[in-house]
Amino acid sequence: MTCSADRPAHASDTVTAGTVVPAREDIGDAEGPHVSAGKLQKFSALVLISLPLAGLGWAVAWSWDDGVSRLALAIAVGMYLLTGHGLAIGFHRMFTHRSFRPTRALKIALAIAGSMAVEGSLYTWTAQHRRHHAYADRPGDPHSPWCYGNGFVPQLRGLWHAHLGWFFRANPSEPERWIPDLLADPDLQLISRTAAIWALLSLALPTLLGWALTGTLTGALATLLWAGAARIFLLHHVTWAVNSVGHMFGNRPFATRDYSTNFAPLAVLSFGDSWHNAHHAYPRLARHGIDRHQIDSSAAIIRLLERVHLATDVVWPTAANTSRRRYPRTGHQEDSSRLQ
Ligand SMILES: [Zn+2]
Ligand SMILES: [Zn+2]
Repeated sequence: MTCSADRPAHASDTVTAGTVVPAREDIGDAEGPHVSAGKLQKFSALVLISLPLAGLGWAVAWSWDDGVSRLALAIAVGMYLLTGHGLAIGFHRMFTHRSFRPTRALKIALAIAGSMAVEGSLYTWTAQHRRHHAYADRPGDPHSPWCYGNGFVPQLRGLWHAHLGWFFRANPSEPERWIPDLLADPDLQLISRTAAIWALLSLALPTLLGWALTGTLTGALATLLWAGAARIFLLHHVTWAVNSVGHMFGNRPFATRDYSTNFAPLAVLSFGDSWHNAHHAYPRLARHGIDRHQIDSSAAIIRLLERVHLATDVVWPTAANTSRRRYPRTGHQEDSSRLQ
């Protein structure tokens, strides 16, 4: 397992605004991130990580002289918006954190759109993410960048671990323990079990669109490479950067028991999920960018879904429910934006 067993509050922890802030030197653990995964998991991780990278390399080499067609780019943007919001609104805010209640049609649509992001099945993704919140930056967290401890080299190793390395480590997030509510839903059982089909659809859809709109195999290949592989590559690394960068660089306007940060440069590409410190402070909120001018397209879409009655019981931020953990604006604000 990673970052191994449960960790009780430590004497050197500090309490700020009613929450425990763990002592940094106490986060690394001897066994945690060192337990290797089984062969099948390692092989799957290698395929998941290397195929989009190979596709991106092929796309760049192939388009080097003539550039990328506007059609391939437009379909890539459309697929990125569809699958990224499926992930941020569906997998993350709705399935993992229950930020709102969807109609059955919306639930199924979000589960399929999120599965087309090709980040593993719905059940695996949500179980890992609930585990992450339960143990964030403590022993038991599947992908804390603080797992190797403090200092420049341990933190660099930690960044690698939180971004990619954790896929090659044993991460037992038992679905029965972490997502019993999702396991009980027959629609989600079917969609989660057929994750490979949605992954193939994620490549087939842009390819068929490119073929239909250009009538050529070259057009189909261009959209497969750019709107398939390259788009999957970009979304993968944006999501994983929230796990790695989003627990080390940026600022922390809210007191949490972890090192989550708000990292503004990724707000657009992550559809609002990079306001990660606010999210860890208040995980159930449908809006993560809860301060003025914080871009959060997922929240804007949830608002639209609420207006047309496809989403109900939305948990919106209010001054009352977001002030308790906020650091005083003129006082202490922890800045994690540098390696130490
Ligand atoms: Zn979350
Ligand atoms: Zn986090």
